[in-house]
Amino acid sequence: MTDELLLQDLWFHHADDVALDSIAVRGELVTVQAAARAGRAVCPGCGTSSTRVHSRYVRRLDDTAAGQRRVIIELRVRRFRCHQQACPQATFVEQVSGLTFRHGRRSQGLQTALRHLALMLAGRAGARLADALPSR
Ligand SMILES: [Zn+2]
Repeated sequence: MTDELLLQDLWFHHADDVALDSIAVRGELVTVQAAARAGRAVCPGCGTSSTRVHSRYVRRLDDTAAGQRRVIIELRVRRFRCHQQACPQATFVEQVSGLTFRHGRRSQGLQTALRHLALMLAGRAGARLADALPSR
């Protein structure tokens, strides 16, 4: 198992279909960059599954602290078009199970992962893991 895989498991073990891009530690701020990667999303208006991507953007999820550090997750998500002509919801943003929710700016349920990260960041292992991830 590589360091990157270990970190991905720690961070997003509760979130399906999320790819971890990078983790940057600058002083008291930890920035995690990740992307949703599910092939489809379900329209909240009519329940129809869609694969038609309309646009993409980055959601900033302000998370709780990891140790003494503030954690921000920059999650690239996609806006999908609904297939149903009659649906009032022409487009909608995908939700990542366990990580995002509609209109929410905070991620859900990261307490366990953050405890692990705090432990990792406290030691040399954390620094090695952060260095091992690709920078952008
Ligand atoms: Zn719809």
